[in-house]
Amino acid sequence: MTARILDGKALAAEVRTEVTQRVAALKARGVQPTLAVILVGDNPASQTYVRHKGSDCESVGMRFILDRFPADLSETALLARIAALNADPSVHGMLVQLPLPKHIDTHKVIAAISPDKDADGFHVQSAGALMIGLPGFKPCTPYGCMRMLQSAGVDPKGKHAVIVGRSNIVGKPMALMLLQANATVTVCHSATPELGAFTRQADILVAAVGRRNTITADLVKPGAAVIDVGMNQNEAGKLCGDVDFDAVREVAGWITPVPGGVGPMTRAMLLVNTVEAAERTAR
Ligand code: NDP
Repeated sequence: MTARILDGKALAAEVRTEVTQRVAALKARGVQPTLAVILVGDNPASQTYVRHKGSDCESVGMRFILDRFPADLSETALLARIAALNADPSVHGMLVQLPLPKHIDTHKVIAAISPDKDADGFHVQSAGALMIGLPGFKPCTPYGCMRMLQSAGVDPKGKHAVIVGRSNIVGKPMALMLLQANATVTVCHSATPELGAFTRQADILVAAVGRRNTITADLVKPGAAVIDVGMNQNEAGKLCGDVDFDAVREVAGWITPVPGGVGPMTRAMLLVNTVEAAERTAR
């Protein structure tokens, strides 16, 4: 059996089309949906991510504000800029590109963002809302993974979902979303002995580790939906995931490629969160 490919690029294009329509409806009511991004320092990967965010906003008709600061920006000055964006009614969504320079307390910075504008869904209030099943902004990566499962017709209800990785931005919120969707959820991490004993039970397997070939074919249950969140480089410097794609696709029922899987969906869901934030102000 060869797995069907969950094409994140194509699905992200569909999501952008939906967002474009929602943006147009808001504009017709005099609201210009706007995302503000704060970038501190000159980390090359962060610069690329921010550039993509700008072009994504443009592609759906959203306004994009980029605030760039040097790496030696003080925490106080950053918090003041966040407060100004919080108070600006023309800004609907906001995020601070991570990682931040070491002298700045990331938790404090995220906590300063208004939960009503928390486009990344990283604020502790957004995390709490997800935890207890209240509406709130969801972290874009797991949100995108859920949308991919939905598009494939994979209903998590009654399924065993195994997530490898427990970060605050991917693994943990992924577990909560799958639980909310009535899956039975297992979360594995670096102290899990015998990973395969868990992953081989997974109807839905999500890999969010950051290490190539963590998920080999012998770790996968035949027919499973395999979602590869990982972003790593192979020896040739090419982007690859955590899953041994070529071997696992012979076992799995569904599989996301890297590139072209979760990455484009993460970008698309940021647009969804931003348009949602703008719609809330227009209600
Ligand atoms: P973190 O480094 O924060 O978390 C990695 C997790 O993997 C940790 O919980 C860690 O366990 C666990 N882990 C590490 N080694 C093993 C192992 N051998 N067996 C089982 N679990 C292990 O990473 P993120 O969650 O931020 O990201 C994970 C990957 O996803 C990265 O490659 C990142 O680049 C990528 N990513 C991709 C995105 C996309 O849009 N496609 C978006 C965000 C991330 P422990 O907690 O015990 O340390």
